Amino acid sequence: MNIILLGPPGAGKGTQAARLVDERGMVQLSTGDMLRAAVKAGTPVGLQAKAVMEAGELVSDAIVSALIGERLDSTDAQGGAIFDGYPRTQAQAEALDRLLDERGQKLDHVIELAVDEEALVDRITGRFTCASCGEGYHDRYKQPLKAGTCDVCGSHEFKRRADDNEESVRTRMAEYRGKTAPILPYYDAKGVVRRVDGMASVETVSKAIDEVLDA
Ligand SMILES: [Zn+2]
Repeated sequence: MNIILLGPPGAGKGTQAARLVDERGMVQLSTGDMLRAAVKAGTPVGLQAKAVMEAGELVSDAIVSALIGERLDSTDAQGGAIFDGYPRTQAQAEALDRLLDERGQKLDHVIELAVDEEALVDRITGRFTCASCGEGYHDRYKQPLKAGTCDVCGSHEFKRRADDNEESVRTRMAEYRGKTAPILPYYDAKGVVRRVDGMASVETVSKAIDEVLDA
């Protein structure tokens, strides 16, 4: 089972990927991580990539494909792969199809955690946490029972992430759309895109993804 998991920041993609790794023995393949690991391990492809990067050039699609091939053949990838941040272009998507095809595999699903941008802005900009125990709160949906006091630990200190503001959320959404726009039509045409409501609870999203994978 090989999938691509797509979702803008705030849709819970990281949580879902970690769960699939835990529960299904899948591996999460992020090209950035793979590249760093291959360079560090000094694999043939890693050495090639290192030379290119030291020359200040971009790592070519051919090198990235070779890296992914190396990784798909490793024993820990036998439970299937979750591609993260790759492919980014139609050429890369076609290269990935060839890589999988050479191994008698295919890309089974592209699962997109779909979000409503306005609802996402509302969700993210209102959230804050207890500075002491980390309990999560929200301006509109989950205020502490006693104003200014954490329900769990009684602390009076709370904090907000600096990038949890509307402008930052809209910028991240625009970046996400820019990254997925080149590949979604390719996969839509193949009929492999499954959209899951990324605004639902973690449990509901998990269940919806499991239904897709087990169908
Ligand atoms: Zn607390």
